[in-house]
Amino acid sequence: MTDRLTIRRPDDWHVHLRDGAMLEAVVSQTARQFARAIVMPNLTPPVTTVAAAEAYRARILAALPADGDFRPLMTCYLTDGADPTEIARGHESGAFTACKLYPAHATTNSAHGVTDIRALGPVLDTMQRIGMPLLIHGEVTDRDVDIFDREAVFIERTLAPLVRDFPDLKIVLEHITTAEAAAFVADAGPLVAATITPQHLHLNRNALFDGGLRPHAYCLPVIKRERHRLAVRAAAVSGSPKFFLGTDSAPHAVERKEMDCGCAGIFNAPFALESYVAVFEEEGALDKFEGFASEHGPRFYGLPLNEGTVTLERKPVEVPARVAGLVPFHAGETLGWRLAE
Ligand SMILES: [Zn+2]
Repeated sequence: MTDRLTIRRPDDWHVHLRDGAMLEAVVSQTARQFARAIVMPNLTPPVTTVAAAEAYRARILAALPADGDFRPLMTCYLTDGADPTEIARGHESGAFTACKLYPAHATTNSAHGVTDIRALGPVLDTMQRIGMPLLIHGEVTDRDVDIFDREAVFIERTLAPLVRDFPDLKIVLEHITTAEAAAFVADAGPLVAATITPQHLHLNRNALFDGGLRPHAYCLPVIKRERHRLAVRAAAVSGSPKFFLGTDSAPHAVERKEMDCGCAGIFNAPFALESYVAVFEEEGALDKFEGFASEHGPRFYGLPLNEGTVTLERKPVEVPARVAGLVPFHAGETLGWRLAE
Protein backbone atom coordinates (compact mmCIF):
# COMPACT_ATOMS: atom_id res chain seq x y z
CA MET A 1 0.00 0.00 0.00
CA THR A 2 1.31 3.43 -0.90
CA ASP A 3 1.86 5.56 2.17
CA ARG A 4 3.54 8.52 0.54
CA LEU A 5 2.62 10.25 -2.67
CA THR A 6 5.03 12.76 -4.17
CA ILE A 7 3.74 14.86 -7.05
CA ARG A 8 4.89 17.84 -9.02
CA ARG A 9 3.81 21.06 -7.27
CA PRO A 10 0.12 21.63 -8.01
CA ASP A 11 -1.86 24.73 -8.98
CA ASP A 12 -5.38 25.88 -8.15
CA TRP A 13 -7.15 26.92 -11.36
CA HIS A 14 -10.03 28.70 -9.59
CA VAL A 15 -9.89 30.54 -6.29
CA HIS A 16 -11.52 33.54 -4.59
CA LEU A 17 -8.95 35.40 -2.51
CA ARG A 18 -11.22 38.40 -1.78
CA ASP A 19 -9.63 41.68 -0.67
CA GLY A 20 -8.68 43.67 2.41
CA ALA A 21 -8.82 41.86 5.76
CA MET A 22 -10.30 38.69 4.23
CA LEU A 23 -7.45 38.51 1.69
CA GLU A 24 -4.95 38.87 4.53
CA ALA A 25 -6.70 36.07 6.42
CA VAL A 26 -6.96 33.50 3.62
CA VAL A 27 -4.20 33.97 1.03
CA SER A 28 -1.55 32.01 2.92
CA GLN A 29 -3.83 28.96 2.95
CA THR A 30 -3.76 28.83 -0.85
CA ALA A 31 -0.07 29.75 -1.08
CA ARG A 32 0.81 26.91 1.32
CA GLN A 33 -0.79 24.33 -0.95
CA PHE A 34 -0.30 25.64 -4.47
CA ALA A 35 2.42 27.19 -6.62
CA ARG A 36 -0.01 29.27 -8.71
CA ALA A 37 -3.70 30.07 -8.68
CA ILE A 38 -6.18 31.58 -11.08
CA VAL A 39 -7.63 34.41 -9.00
CA MET A 40 -11.27 35.28 -9.58
CA PRO A 41 -12.00 38.93 -10.33
CA ASN A 42 -15.40 39.31 -8.60
CA LEU A 43 -14.40 42.08 -6.21
CA THR A 44 -16.51 45.17 -5.60
CA PRO A 45 -16.03 46.78 -8.07
CA PRO A 46 -14.95 43.87 -10.30
CA VAL A 47 -11.49 43.68 -11.89
CA THR A 48 -12.08 44.85 -15.47
CA THR A 49 -8.92 46.79 -16.33
CA VAL A 50 -5.20 46.10 -16.56
CA ALA A 51 -4.57 48.69 -13.86
CA ALA A 52 -7.06 47.06 -11.50
CA ALA A 53 -5.57 43.59 -12.08
CA GLU A 54 -2.04 44.83 -11.46
CA ALA A 55 -3.09 46.63 -8.29
CA TYR A 56 -4.94 43.53 -7.04
CA ARG A 57 -1.94 41.30 -7.77
CA ALA A 58 0.24 43.70 -5.77
CA ARG A 59 -2.19 43.54 -2.81
CA ILE A 60 -2.13 39.73 -2.94
CA LEU A 61 1.67 39.62 -2.96
CA ALA A 62 1.85 42.21 -0.17
CA ALA A 63 -0.35 39.97 1.99
CA LEU A 64 2.14 37.08 1.69
CA PRO A 65 5.54 36.55 3.34
CA ALA A 66 8.31 37.92 1.15
CA ASP A 67 10.21 34.61 0.99
CA GLY A 68 7.42 32.65 -0.76
CA ASP A 69 7.13 32.04 -4.49
CA PHE A 70 3.34 31.80 -4.90
CA ARG A 71 2.21 33.32 -8.21
CA PRO A 72 -1.29 34.74 -8.54
CA LEU A 73 -2.62 34.54 -12.12
CA MET A 74 -5.10 37.33 -12.68
CA THR A 75 -8.37 37.34 -14.58
CA CYS A 76 -10.54 39.98 -16.21
CA TYR A 77 -14.21 40.16 -15.29
CA LEU A 78 -16.31 40.38 -18.43
CA THR A 79 -19.12 42.92 -18.47
CA ASP A 80 -21.49 44.05 -21.20
CA GLY A 81 -19.02 46.87 -21.82
CA ALA A 82 -15.86 44.70 -21.99
CA ASP A 83 -13.17 46.26 -24.19
CA PRO A 84 -11.33 43.86 -26.53
CA THR A 85 -8.36 46.20 -26.86
CA GLU A 86 -7.84 46.44 -23.10
CA ILE A 87 -8.21 42.66 -22.74
CA ALA A 88 -5.68 41.93 -25.50
CA ARG A 89 -3.26 44.45 -24.01
CA GLY A 90 -3.62 42.83 -20.59
CA HIS A 91 -3.07 39.35 -21.96
CA GLU A 92 0.01 40.38 -23.88
CA SER A 93 1.58 42.09 -20.84
CA GLY A 94 0.78 39.14 -18.55
CA ALA A 95 -1.65 41.17 -16.44
CA PHE A 96 -4.57 38.95 -17.47
CA THR A 97 -4.17 35.19 -17.83
CA ALA A 98 -7.83 34.63 -18.71
CA CYS A 99 -11.28 36.24 -18.76
CA LYS A 100 -14.13 35.20 -16.47
CA LEU A 101 -17.72 35.16 -17.64
CA TYR A 102 -20.44 35.37 -15.02
CA PRO A 103 -23.99 35.46 -16.26
CA ALA A 104 -25.44 38.51 -14.47
CA HIS A 105 -26.52 37.64 -10.89
CA ALA A 106 -25.27 34.03 -11.02
CA THR A 107 -23.28 34.22 -7.76
CA THR A 108 -21.42 36.43 -5.23
CA ASN A 109 -20.69 39.90 -6.65
CA SER A 110 -21.88 39.06 -10.16
CA ALA A 111 -24.34 41.92 -10.57
CA HIS A 112 -22.02 43.40 -13.22
CA GLY A 113 -21.97 40.13 -15.18
CA VAL A 114 -22.94 39.64 -18.78
CA THR A 115 -26.63 39.94 -19.68
CA ASP A 116 -26.28 38.71 -23.29
CA ILE A 117 -23.25 36.68 -24.31
CA ARG A 118 -23.99 37.25 -28.00
CA ALA A 119 -23.14 40.92 -27.50
CA LEU A 120 -19.59 39.88 -26.53
CA GLY A 121 -18.71 38.77 -30.07
CA PRO A 122 -15.81 41.19 -30.60
CA VAL A 123 -14.27 40.24 -27.23
CA LEU A 124 -14.59 36.52 -27.92
CA ASP A 125 -13.16 36.95 -31.44
CA THR A 126 -10.13 38.66 -29.92
CA MET A 127 -9.66 36.03 -27.20
CA GLN A 128 -9.92 33.27 -29.77
CA ARG A 129 -7.31 34.95 -31.95
CA ILE A 130 -4.79 35.47 -29.13
CA GLY A 131 -5.39 32.10 -27.41
CA MET A 132 -6.75 33.58 -24.18
CA PRO A 133 -8.94 31.20 -22.15
CA LEU A 134 -12.56 32.03 -21.34
CA LEU A 135 -13.58 30.79 -17.89
CA ILE A 136 -17.31 30.32 -17.50
CA HIS A 137 -19.64 30.14 -14.53
CA GLY A 138 -22.03 27.89 -16.41
CA GLU A 139 -25.50 28.50 -15.03
CA VAL A 140 -28.53 30.25 -16.44
CA THR A 141 -29.99 32.77 -14.04
CA ASP A 142 -33.63 32.60 -15.15
CA ARG A 143 -35.82 32.28 -12.09
CA ASP A 144 -38.16 29.93 -13.94
CA VAL A 145 -35.39 27.31 -14.27
CA ASP A 146 -35.06 25.00 -11.27
CA ILE A 147 -31.81 25.76 -9.43
CA PHE A 148 -30.65 22.13 -9.76
CA ASP A 149 -31.09 22.31 -13.56
CA ARG A 150 -29.36 25.63 -14.21
CA GLU A 151 -26.02 24.14 -15.29
CA ALA A 152 -27.55 21.61 -17.69
CA VAL A 153 -29.81 24.28 -19.20
CA PHE A 154 -26.83 26.63 -19.60
CA ILE A 155 -24.95 23.97 -21.53
CA GLU A 156 -27.84 23.45 -23.90
CA ARG A 157 -28.84 27.10 -24.38
CA THR A 158 -25.52 28.92 -24.18
CA LEU A 159 -22.40 26.75 -24.06
CA ALA A 160 -23.13 24.43 -26.98
CA PRO A 161 -23.85 27.36 -29.36
CA LEU A 162 -20.77 29.21 -28.02
CA VAL A 163 -18.48 26.25 -28.70
CA ARG A 164 -19.98 25.94 -32.19
CA ASP A 165 -19.63 29.65 -33.00
CA PHE A 166 -16.09 30.03 -31.57
CA PRO A 167 -14.44 26.72 -32.43
CA ASP A 168 -10.90 27.95 -31.70
CA LEU A 169 -11.70 29.56 -28.34
CA LYS A 170 -10.22 27.93 -25.24
CA ILE A 171 -13.06 27.45 -22.76
CA VAL A 172 -12.99 26.23 -19.16
CA LEU A 173 -16.38 25.28 -17.76
CA GLU A 174 -15.73 26.07 -14.11
CA HIS A 175 -16.71 23.95 -11.09
CA ILE A 176 -18.76 21.36 -12.97
CA THR A 177 -21.48 19.64 -10.97
CA THR A 178 -23.52 17.45 -13.30
CA ALA A 179 -23.34 14.36 -15.47
CA GLU A 180 -24.38 16.61 -18.37
CA ALA A 181 -21.38 18.89 -17.84
CA ALA A 182 -18.92 16.01 -17.51
CA ALA A 183 -20.25 14.43 -20.70
CA PHE A 184 -20.30 17.70 -22.64
CA VAL A 185 -16.68 18.46 -21.80
CA ALA A 186 -15.51 14.90 -22.45
CA ASP A 187 -17.20 14.88 -25.86
CA ALA A 188 -16.09 18.37 -26.93
CA GLY A 189 -12.84 19.11 -28.74
CA PRO A 190 -9.49 19.60 -26.97
CA LEU A 191 -10.09 23.32 -26.40
CA VAL A 192 -12.92 22.69 -23.93
CA ALA A 193 -11.96 21.71 -20.38
CA ALA A 194 -13.41 21.85 -16.86
CA THR A 195 -12.36 22.46 -13.27
CA ILE A 196 -13.71 20.37 -10.41
CA THR A 197 -14.02 21.38 -6.73
CA PRO A 198 -13.50 19.14 -3.69
CA GLN A 199 -17.06 19.67 -2.46
CA HIS A 200 -18.65 18.47 -5.68
CA LEU A 201 -16.58 15.28 -5.38
CA HIS A 202 -17.48 14.67 -1.73
CA LEU A 203 -21.05 15.87 -1.26
CA ASN A 204 -24.44 15.29 -2.78
CA ARG A 205 -27.43 17.51 -2.08
CA ASN A 206 -28.48 15.52 0.98
CA ALA A 207 -25.57 17.26 2.72
CA LEU A 208 -27.48 20.55 2.55
CA PHE A 209 -30.24 19.15 4.76
CA ASP A 210 -28.36 16.63 6.92
CA GLY A 211 -30.20 16.83 10.25
CA GLY A 212 -31.01 20.51 9.59
CA LEU A 213 -30.11 23.29 7.22
CA ARG A 214 -26.34 23.27 6.56
CA PRO A 215 -25.10 26.67 5.39
CA HIS A 216 -21.49 25.49 5.15
CA ALA A 217 -22.44 22.99 2.43
CA TYR A 218 -24.02 25.75 0.36
CA CYS A 219 -22.13 26.90 -2.70
CA LEU A 220 -22.94 27.79 -6.30
CA PRO A 221 -23.43 25.89 -8.46
CA VAL A 222 -25.31 24.09 -5.72
CA ILE A 223 -24.34 20.46 -4.97
CA LYS A 224 -26.45 17.97 -6.90
CA ARG A 225 -27.91 14.45 -6.75
CA GLU A 226 -25.71 11.45 -6.06
CA ARG A 227 -25.68 10.33 -9.70
CA HIS A 228 -24.15 13.66 -10.67
CA ARG A 229 -21.52 13.45 -7.93
CA LEU A 230 -20.52 10.03 -9.22
CA ALA A 231 -20.27 11.31 -12.80
CA VAL A 232 -18.10 14.25 -11.72
CA ARG A 233 -15.91 11.87 -9.70
CA ALA A 234 -15.49 9.59 -12.69
CA ALA A 235 -14.40 12.57 -14.79
CA ALA A 236 -11.88 13.75 -12.18
CA VAL A 237 -10.15 10.39 -11.83
CA SER A 238 -10.42 9.45 -15.53
CA GLY A 239 -6.97 10.70 -16.41
CA SER A 240 -8.46 12.85 -19.17
CA PRO A 241 -6.44 16.06 -19.66
CA LYS A 242 -9.74 17.98 -19.93
CA PHE A 243 -10.40 17.85 -16.19
CA PHE A 244 -8.27 19.59 -13.61
CA LEU A 245 -8.13 20.99 -10.10
CA GLY A 246 -9.95 24.21 -9.27
CA THR A 247 -11.04 24.53 -5.65
CA ASP A 248 -13.42 27.47 -6.00
CA SER A 249 -12.44 28.19 -2.39
CA ALA A 250 -14.85 31.01 -1.54
CA PRO A 251 -14.47 32.34 2.02
CA HIS A 252 -17.22 34.23 3.78
CA ALA A 253 -17.33 35.37 7.41
CA VAL A 254 -19.18 32.87 9.61
CA GLU A 255 -21.96 35.34 10.36
CA ARG A 256 -22.48 35.89 6.61
CA LYS A 257 -22.95 32.13 6.13
CA GLU A 258 -25.06 31.48 9.22
CA MET A 259 -27.83 34.01 8.61
CA ASP A 260 -31.14 34.47 6.89
CA CYS A 261 -30.15 34.52 3.19
CA GLY A 262 -26.61 33.28 3.88
CA CYS A 263 -23.84 33.58 1.28
CA ALA A 264 -22.89 30.84 -1.18
CA GLY A 265 -19.33 29.52 -1.01
CA ILE A 266 -17.18 26.91 0.72
CA PHE A 267 -13.76 27.76 2.18
CA ASN A 268 -11.84 24.66 1.14
CA ALA A 269 -8.33 26.08 0.66
CA PRO A 270 -6.82 24.97 4.01
CA PHE A 271 -7.09 21.21 3.31
CA ALA A 272 -7.68 21.21 -0.43
CA LEU A 273 -5.06 18.65 -1.45
CA GLU A 274 -5.97 16.42 1.50
CA SER A 275 -9.60 16.57 0.39
CA TYR A 276 -8.91 15.78 -3.26
CA VAL A 277 -6.47 12.97 -2.57
CA ALA A 278 -9.05 11.24 -0.36
CA VAL A 279 -11.31 11.01 -3.42
CA PHE A 280 -8.57 9.65 -5.66
CA GLU A 281 -7.74 7.03 -3.05
CA GLU A 282 -11.40 6.01 -2.64
CA GLU A 283 -11.62 5.63 -6.42
CA GLY A 284 -8.42 3.56 -6.59
CA ALA A 285 -6.86 6.24 -8.77
CA LEU A 286 -3.92 7.67 -6.83
CA ASP A 287 -1.86 7.26 -10.01
CA LYS A 288 -4.13 9.83 -11.72
CA PHE A 289 -3.80 12.48 -9.01
CA GLU A 290 -0.68 14.20 -10.30
CA GLY A 291 -2.19 14.73 -13.73
CA PHE A 292 -5.35 16.25 -12.27
CA ALA A 293 -3.57 18.43 -9.71
CA SER A 294 -0.37 19.47 -11.45
CA GLU A 295 -0.28 18.74 -15.20
CA HIS A 296 -3.61 19.05 -17.02
CA GLY A 297 -4.20 22.65 -15.97
CA PRO A 298 -0.91 24.20 -17.10
CA ARG A 299 -0.96 22.20 -20.32
CA PHE A 300 -4.44 23.50 -21.15
CA TYR A 301 -3.47 27.09 -20.34
CA GLY A 302 -0.19 26.75 -22.28
CA LEU A 303 1.90 27.50 -19.20
CA PRO A 304 5.02 25.66 -18.00
CA LEU A 305 4.63 22.85 -15.48
CA ASN A 306 5.91 23.74 -12.00
CA GLU A 307 9.33 22.69 -10.82
CA GLY A 308 9.61 21.00 -7.44
CA THR A 309 7.31 18.56 -5.65
CA VAL A 310 4.97 18.20 -2.71
CA THR A 311 4.46 15.03 -0.69
CA LEU A 312 1.26 13.74 0.84
CA GLU A 313 1.51 11.07 3.51
CA ARG A 314 -1.05 8.62 4.79
CA LYS A 315 -1.50 10.04 8.28
CA PRO A 316 -4.74 11.25 9.80
CA VAL A 317 -5.31 14.97 10.03
CA GLU A 318 -8.12 16.53 12.05
CA VAL A 319 -9.67 19.49 10.33
CA PRO A 320 -10.30 22.15 12.98
CA ALA A 321 -13.64 23.89 13.52
CA ARG A 322 -12.08 27.19 12.45
CA VAL A 323 -9.17 28.24 10.25
CA ALA A 324 -8.37 31.94 10.11
CA GLY A 325 -11.63 32.53 11.97
CA LEU A 326 -13.66 30.84 9.20
CA VAL A 327 -15.32 27.46 8.91
CA PRO A 328 -13.23 25.28 6.56
CA PHE A 329 -14.58 22.47 4.38
CA HIS A 330 -14.48 19.18 6.37
CA ALA A 331 -14.55 21.09 9.70
CA GLY A 332 -14.52 18.55 12.54
CA GLU A 333 -13.75 15.61 10.24
CA THR A 334 -10.58 13.52 10.07
CA LEU A 335 -8.98 13.09 6.66
CA GLY A 336 -6.68 10.16 5.92
CA TRP A 337 -3.86 11.94 4.10
CA ARG A 338 -1.96 15.07 4.94
CA LEU A 339 0.56 17.34 3.40
CA ALA A 340 4.02 16.37 4.68
CA GLU A 341 6.00 19.20 6.27
ZN1 LIG B 1 -15.92 30.69 -8.09
